Amino acid sequence: MKIDLNNIDELAWEKMSGLLPCTVQHSLTGEVLMQAYMSTEAIKESLASGKTTFYSRSKERLWTKGESSNNYLRLEGIYSDCDYDALLVQAIPDGPTCHLGNRSCFAEAPKPLLHELDSLIASRKGADTNESYTASLFSKGLKRVAQKVGEEGVEVALAAATADKDELANESADLLYHLLVALRANELSLDDVLEVLAKRRG
Ligand code: AMP
Ligand code: ZN
Ligand code: ZN
Ligand code: ZN
Repeated sequence: MKIDLNNIDELAWEKMSGLLPCTVQHSLTGEVLMQAYMSTEAIKESLASGKTTFYSRSKERLWTKGESSNNYLRLEGIYSDCDYDALLVQAIPDGPTCHLGNRSCFAEAPKPLLHELDSLIASRKGADTNESYTASLFSKGLKRVAQKVGEEGVEVALAAATADKDELANESADLLYHLLVALRANELSLDDVLEVLAKRRG
């Protein structure tokens, strides 16, 4: 259920003694950013301000994430689970969510697959070209990278036209990989593309 001012009372407040666990997810990437607790007032404040606000058990007060760091979590939506005793917040972070400076408080967990690949590709810039195909591709320059995207694009098109499913899945993987390389070669990341898609969604 999507939470708004009219259905807050339907949540399992009594069962949970007034505090519901809340997982925060990056609304563009799906990354899990942090976990905290929300009270009725925390939900109301979040909805009113657009800045994700929790009830801090240690501070014993409402806590707007970012109130001192300025790393606010811009609220996109609050959702309850099937039995109304847990919350999922989708948000866009202004900066690192973890007070240790990491994007996520679960920084040691692998990112979603495409983001993991994007980070790996970024880390290959300037790496040993004998050890890494990605490093050698970067070292050949923008034209070679662009050519690879073109080749893989044509291979995807051929597989799609001939309805060869195995080939289409494999060539699509090649294209996604080379597309990420081309983006990184131009100082862009997967997130820059996702932002464009999100704006189109409106
Ligand atoms: P902030 O809300 O980002 O201004 O941070 C204020 C204080 O809240 C910090 O000094 C930490 O004690 C705490 N804090 C900030 N971010 C987190 C987080 N992701 N998880 C737990 N505590 C946090
Ligand atoms: Zn539940
Ligand atoms: Zn943290
Ligand atoms: Zn290919």
